[in-house]
Amino acid sequence: MRKGLSEQTFQKLCALLASKGVRLKAYVMVKPDPSLSERDGIEEAVRTLRHVAATGARLGLAVCAHLNPTYVAKGSRLETEFRSKNYSPPRLWSIVEIILRLEGAGLPIQVGLDTEGLAVRGGTFRNCGLCDEAVRRALTKFSGTQDFSLLKNLSCLCRGRPI
Ligand SMILES: [Zn+2]
Repeated sequence: MRKGLSEQTFQKLCALLASKGVRLKAYVMVKPDPSLSERDGIEEAVRTLRHVAATGARLGLAVCAHLNPTYVAKGSRLETEFRSKNYSPPRLWSIVEIILRLEGAGLPIQVGLDTEGLAVRGGTFRNCGLCDEAVRRALTKFSGTQDFSLLKNLSCLCRGRPI
């Protein structure tokens, strides 16, 4: 994301928060760049979330995560990539997979599915169209309950289909 935050600085900041008893909320973007394939985007988010959980556990720091599937915002660099078919936002199934792989990590996860009206047409995370509503509803419910079973019982023909 080119935020200029080194791992060393991140660790220092986490230690400072831990010493003050302050909770860390980490915002994790899913597939934020055209260089990432769908699979890369999933793996990167899983690694990042595990890293946040492990850092919290090591430092005695309370951590939680906000998982943000990337959408294509109007006027962004991603819009250009999206229009030249170099980028598509992550699928909802990918978000489900990421969360399921974090089960047992002890990391509360909220999912941010709101584009605040900023996305270009067709530029949001989605599935086949038939199951989108059910999967979105389950993800929203999960955010409130942290109940993984809500995500395990979902199915659709599009689930295992490559994109
Ligand atoms: Zn579907």
